[in-house]
Amino acid sequence: MALERTADPDEVRRAVRAWQAEGLTVGLVPTMGALHEGHLSLVRASVAECDRTVVSIYVNPAQFGEGEDLQEYPRRLDEDCRVAEQNGVDLVFCPTDRVMYPQGHATFVVQERLTEVLEGAFRPTHFRGVLTVVCKLFNIAPADRAYFGQKDFQQTVVVRRMVCDLNIPIRVRVMPTVREEDGLAMSSRNECLTAREREQASCLSRALVEARRVYEGGRTDAGALREAMRAVIAAAPLARPDYVEVVDHETLEPVSEVTDRAVAVLAVRIGRTRLIDNMPFGPSASD
Ligand code: AMP
Repeated sequence: MALERTADPDEVRRAVRAWQAEGLTVGLVPTMGALHEGHLSLVRASVAECDRTVVSIYVNPAQFGEGEDLQEYPRRLDEDCRVAEQNGVDLVFCPTDRVMYPQGHATFVVQERLTEVLEGAFRPTHFRGVLTVVCKLFNIAPADRAYFGQKDFQQTVVVRRMVCDLNIPIRVRVMPTVREEDGLAMSSRNECLTAREREQASCLSRALVEARRVYEGGRTDAGALREAMRAVIAAAPLARPDYVEVVDHETLEPVSEVTDRAVAVLAVRIGRTRLIDNMPFGPSASD
């Protein structure tokens, strides 16, 4: 089937409803485009598990704060659609800002507690933007399953919380982080790194690997793991950490003892680019 592409929410809803009326299941993969192997792993999971796959491509201004990289964020819709089609996507929803936030738009999804820590502490309006757009996408494309990446761990936690709290009838699936050869988690933002920054950017994943090594060596106090991660990052001269933590996978509260509920999380600025990464200590729950 050829790929359809539309900026019209009504067309998307009609298509999803029509497929479901035929008894077909539908997967939704929300993205901001500049598709890479990380995104494609979600697409492939959806294509494998669902009869039809919708990908949304929208750089959502509401989730960027003042002075963040909204203008610089890479955009290449035509190429993304080609890649989407090659990977079995049925429909791409690529709305404009006017469609998503028309004049007079005044409703936002605000979540307490979970959005105030980690990323939320450094990007106070970020999750309000994320949850608003994800909720809108779930209404526009009322799919059976929605696919998110473990790479944005806190996002998976707050989206699951919203789906539960607002009784949204969609199953959230979380797929493992896809990495470059040196361990750097794939991200559209990696394109913004200079060659020297790119080299040092592997300190995030190296810090996580070091945390696992220390843990597997028998240390379960989170303080020791935090110190081990900080030391790896401190050895990269261009890296400035925003936070380096070990938190509970559901409450996001810092833990003192590492169990299989713990996740190591970090955010590091490398030059002007801010990167995040994480590593669950337990089996990462996919749904
Ligand atoms: P984005 O376009 O950055 O908003 O990402 C769209 C979706 O792709 C989110 O659910 C991300 O968590 C997921 N994603 C981004 N990078 C990766 C990666 N390296 N591995 C797995 N999923 C990813």
